[in-house]
Amino acid sequence: MNELVIDGVSKRFGKYEALRDIRFTVAEGEFFTLLGPSGCGKTTMLSCIAGLEKPDSGIIRVGNTVYCDGATGKFLQPEERNLGMVFQSYALWPHMSVAENIALPLQLRKVSKAKQSNLIDSVLEQVGLLEQRERYPHQLSGGQQQRVALARALVYSPSLLLLDEPLSNLDAKLRDSARIWLKKLQKEVGVTTIYVTHDQAEALSLSDRIAVMSTGNMLQVDTPKRIYEHPVSERVADFIGHCNFFSARVVDKRPDLHVLQVGENLRFGVSSGKEMPADGEVRIGIRAEKLELHPRDGVAAAPGTVANRVPGRLDEIAYVGDHYEYRVDVYGQKILVESAQEFPIGEVTVVIPENDVYILKADKS
Ligand code: ATP
Repeated sequence: MNELVIDGVSKRFGKYEALRDIRFTVAEGEFFTLLGPSGCGKTTMLSCIAGLEKPDSGIIRVGNTVYCDGATGKFLQPEERNLGMVFQSYALWPHMSVAENIALPLQLRKVSKAKQSNLIDSVLEQVGLLEQRERYPHQLSGGQQQRVALARALVYSPSLLLLDEPLSNLDAKLRDSARIWLKKLQKEVGVTTIYVTHDQAEALSLSDRIAVMSTGNMLQVDTPKRIYEHPVSERVADFIGHCNFFSARVVDKRPDLHVLQVGENLRFGVSSGKEMPADGEVRIGIRAEKLELHPRDGVAAAPGTVANRVPGRLDEIAYVGDHYEYRVDVYGQKILVESAQEFPIGEVTVVIPENDVYILKADKS
């Protein structure tokens, strides 16, 4: 298998540690995304794979081809790695037609003229731009230019496709359709793809797996569903979606549920299948859309009793188009709840989902 293996890669810029002992494997044909906030090291990781940066230590290889090895000093130049790359700026030559732009990497590889023409036609067909073959970049929309850049990266059948925020210059509507199109194309072509973005929706919708990064560390590598539904740490949960975080104490461990206490008076159950730390102090997360709001139903639990239906006071409402964001006070705890249903300011009942409370571990700093 021609999998991409990143094994213990570290990179410093002066005193700054941009990558710390990064390890992951990307299977052949996989769409793998590096996701994280600005400055977390995504582009540095991609540049190390591309050969534009040299790691201080660690190994990067595709199948048996070692791109670099800190221990032996081996380092293949970018042009020796057979990679396709597309960056935020498409970097098309303005004085060259679409076909001429795409021909460039083939000329560099000394592909015959006749073969070039066939390869260009077939890749243009794949990206849906055969009719624009003789146009110049200024005669194309942003979305079409981005497809040309992709065609140029794919035309020589690279072993890896590296994409650094390739959709970020497109407007929001075009980006949505480009996402669907890109995912379909990637699966058709079957090229192993490493995608860099800080956009969580993009990462969740495009990827087979996602690596969430923060300050040079890899926090979690998992499928989109697992990253969203089983974040391992507070930073992962916080980076994706809206999550409430609390420091809690485990006050009872029953066969069917564990009882957690938050603050003085909020006590509720979580399913006992969850692993709890021995000392009983935990950090927990509850997604805003997993909490339910109901009109106050008169059976609100008294402070300090164990209950997952608890009384709250709805203090603030924000309408955000497809749902509402509610700020609710529950025994002094400020809780964010998201719901498509409309509620007025006032007394409510909040339902805490016993199966959807994350028990989180501390992040590496
Ligand atoms: P963004 O989404 O903003 O592009 P990123 O996650 O891709 O961010 P990187 O570009 O990889 O982040 O940068 C990681 C850190 O390394 C940043 O703090 C950045 O300032 C630093 N850095 C990157 N390249 C260099 C360089 N050539 N010299 C010094 N510092 C650098």
